[in-house]
Order: sequence, then C-alpha cells, then structure tokens
Amino acid sequence: MKTPAQKQCLEELCRLYAPPGQEDEVAAYCRPRLEKACDKVWQDEIGNLIGFIKGTSSNDKDSVRIFAHMDEIALIIKRIEDDGTIRVDPLGGMYPNLIGVGPVDILGRHEHVSGILSVGSVHVSEHSSAAYHIQPSMGNQAMTWLHTHVFTGLSRQELYAKGIRAGTRLVIPREHRTLTEVGEYWSGYFMDNRAGIASLLNLIDKLKSQGKRPYPDLYVVLTVEEEIGAHGAKYAARTIPATLTLGLEVGPAEEEYSVDFSASPILVYRDEEAVYDRRVADYFLDIAREISMYVQTATFSTYKSDVSHAKSAGRSPFSGLICLPTKNTHSYEIIHRDVIENTSLLLKAFLLDEHSSFLPRYCPSCDQIK
Ligand SMILES: [Zn+2]
Repeated sequence: MKTPAQKQCLEELCRLYAPPGQEDEVAAYCRPRLEKACDKVWQDEIGNLIGFIKGTSSNDKDSVRIFAHMDEIALIIKRIEDDGTIRVDPLGGMYPNLIGVGPVDILGRHEHVSGILSVGSVHVSEHSSAAYHIQPSMGNQAMTWLHTHVFTGLSRQELYAKGIRAGTRLVIPREHRTLTEVGEYWSGYFMDNRAGIASLLNLIDKLKSQGKRPYPDLYVVLTVEEEIGAHGAKYAARTIPATLTLGLEVGPAEEEYSVDFSASPILVYRDEEAVYDRRVADYFLDIAREISMYVQTATFSTYKSDVSHAKSAGRSPFSGLICLPTKNTHSYEIIHRDVIENTSLLLKAFLLDEHSSFLPRYCPSCDQIK
C-alpha cells in the first residue's frame, strides 16, 4: 500500500540535483534522515554518505553494506564556441532522443543559468541544420550529442564570468522534476536511483520506529559517481569492512527478462559486469517466501551496478542486487507505487533474520569459513 510519506520523500529526492561528482544536494537531504536512524553517520573522502547501525550479532564477520547511488545521468560541457554556443557530452547513459529538446540548468560555479538543449529547426535543407539529418525522411541518422548544442543567449565571456566553462555540469531543471501519478504508478526523472534511496531511508526509518536492530552490522552507503563507473562504490568496497555487499537499484521491467511491471522486487543473478552470488539471491527467495512476498528473478544485459563493479574489482566476497522494476530507464522513468515499500520490507526481513544460511560462519580458532 502506498503511503503519502514515501511519495513525498521520492518527490523531494527527485527534485534535487546530483550530476556525477556533484551529489551534495542529495547528501545534504539524506544526512539528517540517516542521523535519526543510525548510530554513526559520516561522509568519506570521495563523497559517499555512510550510516552505521550496530547489529545484534556478536560475530563481527556478520556485516552488510547496502549501496544505493545518489548521482543521476547528466551532461558536461565539452567546449564553448566563440559565439557562446555550448557543446556537451553525456555523463553516464543519457541519450539526446530520450531527453529531447528543451530547458537545461547549467550549474556554473558562481551562478546557475538556464539553457535550451537544441538541434536547430526542421524547416531547412542539408545546407544548414543538424535537425535536417535526423528527420526520418532525410537520411534517418540516429540522433547523437553531435547533433545538439545548448543555447543560452550569452557570449562566451559572459558564461566564463558566471563560472561556466568546459567541465561544468548541465541537468534537467527542477520544474521538470515533478512526479506524475498514472494509475498505480509514479513517473518522473531519476527514479534511478532516488527510488532506491527512498527504499533505504524507509528501511532504516522502520528499524528505528520499531525499536529493532539488524542482526548483522549494517552500513548504509549512499554512493557517488555510479553512472560513470561506480567510483564511489569501488572506493567504499575497499574502505568499509563488510562481508556482504547488497545494492538497491532500478531494473528494466522488460519482456526480454520476463520481468513484470509490478510492485515485486527483482533479485538479480547476473549483469553485464559480473555474476552476483547465487547463494545470496537464493537466500532472498527464501526470505520472500517466509514473508509471503512475490519476488522476481532476472539476468540483465547492458546493465551494471555499484555492486557488480565492486565485485569485478575484487572488492566484494559476497554480492547481491535487488532491483525495483522500472519502465523507460534513463529517461522519464515509471515505477509501481508499492515497490518502495515492498523492497524495504524484504530487506528488513533479511536484516532481522538471525538464522541467515548464507552469511559465512567463521571458525574463531582457524578463521576458516564454515
Ligand atoms: Zn542506477
């Protein structure tokens, strides 16, 4: 069942700017929420925001870190031409045909400036505009960032004065970051990964309000720069001690994966970067059965996560990924309104289980896994 609190949290999170490497707004929003529910909260050197909750197990090998990334796909300035026209590159998997012509917010060091992502006019011949070449009847080229530019009405010198230059990030403006309710679904930009973060915040709120501690030590890790190579997660996986790494992410609800577009979380067994730990995913299947929750399983192509990056870098001995079924990934995304709650409940059941069959048991005398 959806709750107004979850919708409000998701809506507030989606409105925040967090291009890769500039996740401060999301971190500032989440920090007090973590402080309310965790024993200790800190931000590491790379910018990951971390909350620690001491578990009830006396074995310090019983430890879990859960990753959810704060950053969003965005654009970065490649160059500013003499007349002030801005040329951009994507930061992460952002595609011009999915974002479309329209306003962007340019995050200058000294000032934010509105710009219009543009392709020129369609009423032209091959002599002039990029828009000519991307019309289906005129050559049918796929639209790329090379066809686009950003118009600001300002000169290069005026842009420089506002701290706008190569390297400046461009994002979808706040006024376009509202949630649209469609039947039982919520839609908007950046469910990836604000829906994952909302699940994690919902989870720690539940533990706190119910006066419960997890069985393993729990590190809630809100990571940076997932969309451009999971740099935050790789750093956290090296510096935060935990036996098991879990991730919360959006997952494509597509027929090719037999994934229903529903409120049932997805247990991922494999993606493009790594094979997740089968024992972990199997264990979550058992947990779901115990709490009578229907969950789905999948293996994803053209998909990577914080966790699979951490695993392929050799920094996670046990790994699992839970996804929220999502349509239109990396554009105007849609999720079921109940999936945030379900994902939190599944994780809560796992964290409170004192008989987990997969958490490795170390023999204290020989330090071997039993
Ligand atoms: Zn993501």
